[in-house]
Amino acid sequence: MNKQKEYQIRRSSRAKRARIIVTAEKVEVVAPLRMPEKQIQQFMRAKQDWVETAKNKMQQHVDNMTSLAPDSYQQGVLIPYQGKQYTLQVKASLEKNVKIAFEQDFIAYVPEALKGLGLSEQIRQALVIWMGRAAARQAVKTMDHYAPLYQLNPRSISIKAQKSRWGSCGIHNDINLNWLLILAPAEVFEYVVIHELCHIGQRNHSAAFWVLVERHCPDYKQRRSWLKQNGASLMLGL
Ligand SMILES: [Zn+2]
Repeated sequence: MNKQKEYQIRRSSRAKRARIIVTAEKVEVVAPLRMPEKQIQQFMRAKQDWVETAKNKMQQHVDNMTSLAPDSYQQGVLIPYQGKQYTLQVKASLEKNVKIAFEQDFIAYVPEALKGLGLSEQIRQALVIWMGRAAARQAVKTMDHYAPLYQLNPRSISIKAQKSRWGSCGIHNDINLNWLLILAPAEVFEYVVIHELCHIGQRNHSAAFWVLVERHCPDYKQRRSWLKQNGASLMLGL
C-alpha cells in the first residue's frame, strides 16, 4: 500500500508540533508550516499503532450506528424488540388495514387483496404504532412497580417520538419516554424509567441523584453504558 495515501497533511501556522486527527473519513496530520515532510513521515511512523487503534475505535463507532431496522418490511426479515430480534411473518387477512400481532414472532396481517403489493411502508407504520403501545404498557408496569418504593409518583406518563432524548421529567412530574426504548433490552427500558422517576426526588444529576438511582437499580451503570454504546443506532428507529 502506498504510505503517502494513508494520511493527509494539513499545514497550520498555529501548530507548534504535529498532531493527528482521525475521523471516519480520513487520517489527517496537522503540522507546523516549516516542519520538513520527512519529519512528518517519521512522526507518523512512530504513531502507527496509535493511529491503528484510533481507526479501529472509529470503525466500531460507525458500525454501532447501523440501524436496527430491516431495509424493507417483508416476510422473513428481523424486527428488533426488547433487545432481541424476531422474525416478521406476513399473512393475508380480511382486515381493511395492516394489523400487527406478536406471538413468538411478529405477524403482519395485511388485506388479502393487497398482499402481493409488498406494503413495506404500511407494515412499518403499523409496527411503529404497535411498538408505541407496547412501550406505554411497559412504562406503566415499570412505574407501578418502582414509584411506590420511594414515593416517587409521576403526574402522567407519555410515550413520545423524540429525536434526541430518551426521557424527561417536567417540573410537574410529567414523565415523557421515547418509544424507541421498547427496542432496547428490557433492563435498559427499566433504567430510563427509574432515572426519570428519580428526577421527582432530585431535579438534577447530582451525586444524590445517582445514589437514588443506584438504590433502585444497583447495576444502572451497565444499563446506562448500553444506551451510550447503542443509543445512536436505536435513534435511527424503525
Ligand atoms: Zn436525567
